[in-house]
Amino acid sequence: LVASLAACSGGGGGRGADSGSGASGGDNAGALVGVAMPTKVSERWIKDGDAVKSALEDKGYKVDLEYADNKIPTQVQQVSNMITKGAKVLIIASIDGGSLSDQLDQAAAANIPVISYDRLLTGNENVDYYVSFDNYKVGVDQATSLLTGMGVLDADGNKVDGVEPQNIEVFAGSPDDNNATFFFNGAMDTLKPFIEDGTITIGSGQDGFTQAATLQWDPATAKARMQNLIASTYSGGTTLNGVLSPYDGISIGIISALQGAGYGTSSQPLPIITGQDAEAASVKSIIADQQYSTIYKDTRQLADQSVIMADDLLTGKTPETNDDKTYDNKAKVVPTYLFQPTIVTKENYEKVLVESGYYTEADLK
Ligand code: BGC
Repeated sequence: LVASLAACSGGGGGRGADSGSGASGGDNAGALVGVAMPTKVSERWIKDGDAVKSALEDKGYKVDLEYADNKIPTQVQQVSNMITKGAKVLIIASIDGGSLSDQLDQAAAANIPVISYDRLLTGNENVDYYVSFDNYKVGVDQATSLLTGMGVLDADGNKVDGVEPQNIEVFAGSPDDNNATFFFNGAMDTLKPFIEDGTITIGSGQDGFTQAATLQWDPATAKARMQNLIASTYSGGTTLNGVLSPYDGISIGIISALQGAGYGTSSQPLPIITGQDAEAASVKSIIADQQYSTIYKDTRQLADQSVIMADDLLTGKTPETNDDKTYDNKAKVVPTYLFQPTIVTKENYEKVLVESGYYTEADLK
């Protein structure tokens, strides 16, 4: 047991590995766990933070939960403080996956295991576990729902015969977030055959990750890019049929740019627009026929799994993983536990989001 904890956090050993008596009995009973979250601007991270904190408290741990307002130096400082305060495990959802290397080294030196939460910490071997959703599959699902919404695929995922050629634009997430390339690659691999056979054209020609990226997932940045795309490519009457958006906040920026240019009427309807996170504002937008789809990732599952991992580490057990080959952080392949995402549209939001208790009907009014 000592070995499992020592091995996972790079040596030191000897701490916390009593005979598995759990938080209520062992050396680590009531230990402090540091939980670093990126921002409160997006509702999902608030749900994540709340769920992680309450699950840890249910197991008797103390929690230092911090939000960094999307500021990298703030997050660096917060994680340093957690180490100084004596946290026994760190659960980190980073802003920039590569910016916490010094803190990861310090954590390893102090024998503090690190769980990378949803976003992979990169460029440092002192990352013990990763818990996330299947990020490539998220991108596949985004592109699949785009194609379904555009009528290119039927409900069973088969290509519809005789569809007219259509125009799309593609957006990607933040380049410092490892997930963003997984989403984009999953989506582009899915769109590729339809681009190659001429069913779909990226009207502006901007099909590369760098061109499509949105620093820090910022809705205003996406809005400005969409305004530029409308002006450069769609002002002369060319129809825009679809927009691949990787995140609900970006979708809101895109919709705002389109509405500002006169889209959203019966003569000029909004294109099919995707999203991610099933944030309440965007589910409302789906119900109102503005956004077409989102990707639901149950933050309660992710939170619970990260807490099970933390508790295992604190009680000398080896956390369960289900994917130990995909997530290479450029210093090591990080043992991972992945969940599966779900496509949400107006057709299934009640069943997926309300019946599961993720939202109440009133949350979506
Ligand atoms: C998360 C997404 C989220 C995005 C923006 C990604 O790392 O996996 O769920 O939409 O960050 O917050």
